[in-house]
Amino acid sequence: KAQVFSGIQPTGVLHLGNYLGALESWVALQDKYSTVMYSIVDLHSITQPQDPQILRENILDMAASLLACGIDPTRSILFQQSQMKSKQKNEGSVGLYTYPVLQAADILLYKYSQLCSSCVLFLSRLYSQLCVRERVMLLLCRSTHVPVGEDQIQHLELAQDLARIFNNQYGEFFPEPRALLSGTRKVKSLRDPSSKMSKSDPQKLATVFLTDTPDDIVLKIRRAVTDFTSEVTYEPESRPGVSNLVSMHAAVSGQSLEEVVRLAEGMDTGQYKNVVAEAIVQKLQPIRLEIQRLRADRGHLESLLAKGAEKAHSLAAPVMTEVRKLVGFY
Ligand code: ATP
Ligand code: MG
Repeated sequence: KAQVFSGIQPTGVLHLGNYLGALESWVALQDKYSTVMYSIVDLHSITQPQDPQILRENILDMAASLLACGIDPTRSILFQQSQMKSKQKNEGSVGLYTYPVLQAADILLYKYSQLCSSCVLFLSRLYSQLCVRERVMLLLCRSTHVPVGEDQIQHLELAQDLARIFNNQYGEFFPEPRALLSGTRKVKSLRDPSSKMSKSDPQKLATVFLTDTPDDIVLKIRRAVTDFTSEVTYEPESRPGVSNLVSMHAAVSGQSLEEVVRLAEGMDTGQYKNVVAEAIVQKLQPIRLEIQRLRADRGHLESLLAKGAEKAHSLAAPVMTEVRKLVGFY
């Protein structure tokens, strides 16, 4: 049975690039597949230092943003990675895939056991979760399709290896998860159209966030770097700045590049920027308001995430039982 699984780190506010490059296709997949799982991968995010309070807020921000973009909790299983606690003895079976990590944990545990065994145990568990949790989860849910950007293909290969190794040993059991290459559409930075738009860009005017007000958006688009030709054309190689505007405009308005360029005939880039800003405001305004609305009720968000974690667990638990049987742990 075809199943979709993907994850996103709660490291900041989503931007137009995330929306057009990933989120829109995540939303569309809900119509095509009966089981769709989206995980807010908080365990992954602590590979960078995180302030616990801020992380908590970021997780809720991300949940609200995903919902506002159209992830529908009645059709998708939306959950927080760290809430998918492996109940009871599942730890051992995670170890099945993480031998070297567990070995390191054992060594550390032994070495430091006099110092603070429970602390090291906790760290090593966290560590093994960090390294493989998402891949194991992917398998345990018997996911078949994983929407990812090209940068994530290598990571998916690890999950494919794990599936193959298991299947060779114990018979065909896990489907090998395949990449659904979404978003060949790349949105560029408004300050430097040779690089991509990104959450972590320190330049304030480079990125259009889903939470930006109409005024923010107008300001950012008006200041967008273009070139000295006033005509509006789509030539991404020689005119990356104005072409980025054309491609964002086409994407948010659902028109083709040609249609958008034709519409801009007779305008200079200055006038055209107003049109683009307006189109982006039209698209993002309802999303921004919905994020605000959802964010005002943390209890609701928390209970949605808890329900999502329960559903994810009920999908994974029977598979885990099968795995334990196949391996002989029963
Ligand atoms: P960071 O700067 O922290 O890496 P990011 O903006 O690159 O953040 P990610 O969380 O790395 O965002 O990516 C989330 C998803 O959004 C991925 O599927 C990625 O391919 C997609 N994505 C990120 N930036 C863009 C962009 N500028 N255009 C299109 N898709 C993008
Ligand atoms: Mg990135």
